[in-house]
Amino acid sequence: MKGSCLCGDITFETAAKPEGASMCHCRQCRKMAGGVWASAYVADRDLTITGAVSWFEASDTAKRGICPKCGAFLFWKAHDEDTISFALGAVDGPTGIKIEKHIFVADKGDFYEIADGLTQKD
Ligand SMILES: [Zn+2]
Ligand SMILES: [Zn+2]
Repeated sequence: MKGSCLCGDITFETAAKPEGASMCHCRQCRKMAGGVWASAYVADRDLTITGAVSWFEASDTAKRGICPKCGAFLFWKAHDEDTISFALGAVDGPTGIKIEKHIFVADKGDFYEIADGLTQKD
């Protein structure tokens, strides 16, 4: 699976089947992505990133990777985990992936409802 930011300066490629596809409704994703952030993760070693990602330390536990030119929010990385999440919306072509769950639903905006019947976690 290959992906890129809007301007194309950052590209990424996965070397394993991504897991844990989710839609995150948390405040940090809302503020960075302008809304829900859909992602999946692979082991660190299975994601190759090309280009100079700007890492934003949004909390003590995780950092968020964006393109410094176009601002695309592409990656989320917990400091104490050996996996990295990438934005499904940045994938070029079909992902072949289905979202499994919604997370941080308690933080979601009031301007939409979740109606797909998938698991919702606060
Ligand atoms: Zn870009
Ligand atoms: Zn989030």
